[in-house]
Amino acid sequence: MSYDFFSDDELMCKCGCGQALMDDAFMGKLVSLRELAGFAFHLTSAYRCPIHNHSISSTGMDGPHTTGRAVDIALFGPQAHWVITNAGMHGMTGIGIKQKGDYTSRFVHLDDLPNGSGQPRPWVWTY
Ligand SMILES: [Zn+2]
Repeated sequence: MSYDFFSDDELMCKCGCGQALMDDAFMGKLVSLRELAGFAFHLTSAYRCPIHNHSISSTGMDGPHTTGRAVDIALFGPQAHWVITNAGMHGMTGIGIKQKGDYTSRFVHLDDLPNGSGQPRPWVWTY
């Protein structure tokens, strides 16, 4: 599967398993948002296999990234503001914000997960 604006490499799990099981409906929303934004979305994380997610996230074996319906985008300042302002209107139901510390470590997480037990949506959180 290939998508406008995003390479297969950046969508792939970082553990080396080679999987990039992104959800088509989520990617449709992300591509529209990116097109509207007019600036690059550098993904620091997209698909994660359950084992990799468990090793790096408190969300364990079934966090948002394991569904292929979540990305982390390296952003700060006006571009982070734009994404946070527009994401909810373009179908994103989870917005996680890391905007403290070094600019190069700042990002915005987006997902479109449904409301569920232990996973209330819509939701906004900070890291
Ligand atoms: Zn993996």
